[in-house]
Amino acid sequence: ASTNAALMARRATAVPRGVGQAHHVFIDRAENAEIWDVEGRRYIDFAGGIAVLNTGHRNPDVIAAVQAQLERYTHTCFQVVAYEPYVALAEKLNAMAPGDFAKKTLLLSTGAEAVENAVKIARAYTKRSAVIAFGSGYHGRTMFTLGLTGKVAPYKTGFGPFPGEIFHARFPNERAGVTVDDAIASIEALFKNDVEADRVAAIIIEPVQGEGGFNVAPPELLRRLRALCDANGILLIADEVQTGAGRTGTFFAIEHAGVAPDLVTLAKSLAGGFPLSAVVGRAEVMDAPGPGGLGGTYAGSPLGCAAALAVIETFERDKLLQRSRDVGELLTQGLRDMASRRAQIADVRGLGAMVAVELVDAQGAPDADLTRRIVAEACRRGLILLSCGTYGNVLRILVPLTASDELLREGLSIIDASFDAVA
Ligand code: PMP
Repeated sequence: ASTNAALMARRATAVPRGVGQAHHVFIDRAENAEIWDVEGRRYIDFAGGIAVLNTGHRNPDVIAAVQAQLERYTHTCFQVVAYEPYVALAEKLNAMAPGDFAKKTLLLSTGAEAVENAVKIARAYTKRSAVIAFGSGYHGRTMFTLGLTGKVAPYKTGFGPFPGEIFHARFPNERAGVTVDDAIASIEALFKNDVEADRVAAIIIEPVQGEGGFNVAPPELLRRLRALCDANGILLIADEVQTGAGRTGTFFAIEHAGVAPDLVTLAKSLAGGFPLSAVVGRAEVMDAPGPGGLGGTYAGSPLGCAAALAVIETFERDKLLQRSRDVGELLTQGLRDMASRRAQIADVRGLGAMVAVELVDAQGAPDADLTRRIVAEACRRGLILLSCGTYGNVLRILVPLTASDELLREGLSIIDASFDAVA
């Protein structure tokens, strides 16, 4: 049998170094919130494949739905010969997405593709070109989504120039003293200095910034963006690729603010571990591109659709939205307790089960090095953790919502022990 080290060596020769890897571990198998590596070591999975496994690894209902789909057909290309699961999923998402208006849904494969298409649709509808995104936001690795992404290293380094007509506003940050007023003022400044409001097709925002550090957009910001968009004929796009599919305790995170965006993107946990993404939006906006303007060979794959329908059913039957709030509560309490004993934890924040802690050094400055050491030590102790944040000093938790309280506590105690070992 192969070892992790032997596989890492083969990987280093065969795969470009640009593809990062948080842990030097190769998986053998996984079940719910646990992973076993090729050497037989067991890990608790607090990463969930970066927010993909809200319903757990190999959720039995998801696997059964995909297996049944495998027995009938796996691919036609929806634009060639259509299939019912695509339409059924669109109907579901149209009914679930916030907003008391008619909606339509476009299905794709990846989060970046969903964001790209949301921008295409917004441009086609508004006949405008510009898009405003936020500093420290993350929207993907394709050229336009990299342009939208508000963090240079490592994502954008060496890959420019990026498409034009992209502008960045400030994201509020209480700890850094950036208020909602400052964020709105930064958009007004863009309108004054860089781009007239009536050239702006859309403002895109993550209701909770994911890669940027689990920065929660204050509900007031989302409400004021809605009003600003309405006043200027601009569309509001919520990028819910990481926050969506129940991670924050509501199916769409923006529901917490009571705001209905014109377009929402979803991916990651939507199909419980299978590649699928979506743009859900106002019917008349979604219909702006002409026939043939939207699609993709694998877009809305039958396997992804079958999986997503099972994910939504599982959420309803197992009351996973409530579970998401409960998981968030348990994690937040455990981490607050740790924070009360450890000066290195400067902040515990999040929304629902999207929970993170920010680490600082003795001077209160972001401590990316400590964050790296905690992540590595946790892995040695059998916990898969992820970091994030503009300064790389945030530990984030995206554990399956189907994990037991016992497993969550075991994971928290490994984090605590990792601090004892390296901090
Ligand atoms: N938007 C957000 C908010 C994301 O978190 C991500 C992925 N981390 C993406 C877009 C891109 O998704 P994908 O990697 O599936 O292209």
